[in-house]
Amino acid sequence: MSNYHIKHLEEYYQVYRKSVREPENFWGEVAEEHFLWRKKWDNVLSWDFEKPEVKWFEGAQLNITENCIDRHLLTRGEKTAIIFEPNNPEEEAQHITYHQLHERVCQLANVLKDQGVKKGDRVCIYLPMIPELSIALLACARIGAVHSVVFAGFSATALSTRINDSDCKLVITSDGSYRGSKSIDLKGIVDEGLEDCPGVKTVLVVKRTNTDINMKEGRDKWLQPLLENAYLDCVPEIMDAEDPLFILYTSGSTGKPKGMVHTTAGYLVYTAYTFKNVFQYTENDVYWCTADIGWITGHSYIVYGPLANGATTLMFEGVPSYPDFGRFWEIVEKHKVNQFYTAPTAIRALAKQNIAFAENHDLSSLKVLGSVGEPINEEAWHWYNDVIGKKNSPIVDTWWQTETGGIMITPIPYVTPTKPTYATLPFIGIQPALMDEQGKELKGNQVEGRLCIKFPWPGMARTIWGNHDRYKDTYFSAFPNKYFSGDGALRDEVGYYRITGRVDDVIIVSGHNLGTAPIEDAINEHPAVAESAIVGFPHDIKGNALYGYVILKETGESRNHDNLRNEINQIITEHIGPIAKLDKIQFTSGLPKTRSGKIMRRILRKIASRDMSNLGDTSTLLNPEVVEEIKDNVL
Ligand code: ATP
Ligand code: MG
Repeated sequence: MSNYHIKHLEEYYQVYRKSVREPENFWGEVAEEHFLWRKKWDNVLSWDFEKPEVKWFEGAQLNITENCIDRHLLTRGEKTAIIFEPNNPEEEAQHITYHQLHERVCQLANVLKDQGVKKGDRVCIYLPMIPELSIALLACARIGAVHSVVFAGFSATALSTRINDSDCKLVITSDGSYRGSKSIDLKGIVDEGLEDCPGVKTVLVVKRTNTDINMKEGRDKWLQPLLENAYLDCVPEIMDAEDPLFILYTSGSTGKPKGMVHTTAGYLVYTAYTFKNVFQYTENDVYWCTADIGWITGHSYIVYGPLANGATTLMFEGVPSYPDFGRFWEIVEKHKVNQFYTAPTAIRALAKQNIAFAENHDLSSLKVLGSVGEPINEEAWHWYNDVIGKKNSPIVDTWWQTETGGIMITPIPYVTPTKPTYATLPFIGIQPALMDEQGKELKGNQVEGRLCIKFPWPGMARTIWGNHDRYKDTYFSAFPNKYFSGDGALRDEVGYYRITGRVDDVIIVSGHNLGTAPIEDAINEHPAVAESAIVGFPHDIKGNALYGYVILKETGESRNHDNLRNEINQIITEHIGPIAKLDKIQFTSGLPKTRSGKIMRRILRKIASRDMSNLGDTSTLLNPEVVEEIKDNVL
């Protein structure tokens, strides 16, 4: 028996030990008992981190959509697979059963085949958060086409770069999209982007906003009429375990986006197994992840992980602030959501609002709260825990990356005691290592270093599309025989991990390594501070000095800035020490952020160093205008 569903701490340790001592037996049993295979594997794992090359379940054959849909039809055919909550609360929610999902995926798969898409071809999906998006992923997987989803908030340039990088021949998009009170001309962006993409022969257009759009003769086709004429069944393409399932570009906060390639069997097994345990999903629960499917979180924990478990997964088209800041909580109440998974940036934005927005809704259905995307600061953690969870829904602070495919370090709710700002313990099968700068592994507890993984796990990306050398350089060269995450972490006295931020964000001041996250955490404790970001800038004596960008809450805006600067440095001195005091503090109305809510520190670093010449690609920013403001007021 494989202990697929872990229910207490003893069991966690026992299963963890087995997964480390006998990884092949362990993952072999999980795969054998819980998935549908057309042919069993010859070999559970072969790996070489030098090349690097990793293969899971080699020789096996399967189709991931049979695992996510077909095998549920007998027992869960009438169960809701997807709840769709539209942007406009007046528009009715949709409930798509497993049976209906099967039909819709098969129809779209048949349309793709009719349009000449074959196994191995790349299809770009540029859609808002509507059911057709999930269906499009699955339809590609049904016929063995490799999907490459591009977040529908990205610009025409970002879109065309990604389409060309992976040579997509077909694009699925919509006439427009809704975001709160705005509607966005998605098709216009596609038209612009495709001017630079000669390889795209076909564009399939979903009707969503009914906007008047240009349809390019011979290239653009409305999807609906094609679907109406398509068969309701489509024989799944039989895939090899290591056939690519999708390409997904990392968010690009550290440079040119990388097209991470995920393969079929290992990704299925890992996302399904993590989903079940990290959210403690039980049969009739309603699960909601607020991420966009344009990010890995949406791929793994809106689509594949939940559906592989026969779960009900909610997808929301809109934004947390529309029609008001109570929208998330209204949705939780309306659909009786049991597991809720979001990002610290959303939590902070909501925590700033009047508490009545949360308190006016019945949140008693909630059992598990999740966080992902960046370190969650202490204040936000407590607000989430107290106001939303009423102190009885454990928070799972899940650390992972586009590259890891699934959750890597996380509490298991009701199993692992939580600790604010700590991602706590490695998930089953995950072997982290903290390394010092000389490349030595730091053993024991109470150490801090660079976070690596020593042993393969089934969900890991296998390469960067078209650039295996970059894959090797980025992840496997810093420390021989280890996957290097790029993040720093500390391990406390009981072995819990806290992610301290990207290693690039560690600043060496007078010979001391200072992580930005703990300093920002301290600053954010100041009652007048809403958010902050720290970067380093060159300093004659200290090597580097610290530069802080601080957003004030409305209540703090009229305060004397010099007094505030002193108070902020006072708090830093108390929490961390005088070494971490900021040399310069600039108050600003915003921080440059990626669409997934991450601060673009490389821009802030350049501005603080007064190197304004080349700020790099800002096209994927959520708020490019704030860069000008920050430049104008640099200290
Ligand atoms: P790029 O690699 O292109 O810069 P990105 O790293 O922002 O983009 P993702 O793969 O979406 O793209 O994000 C993974 C990163 O997010 C992690 O490496 C880590 O820095 C951060 N992160 C994710 N979850 C957590 C968490 N629970 N705690 C702390 N940091 C987290
Ligand atoms: Mg990254």
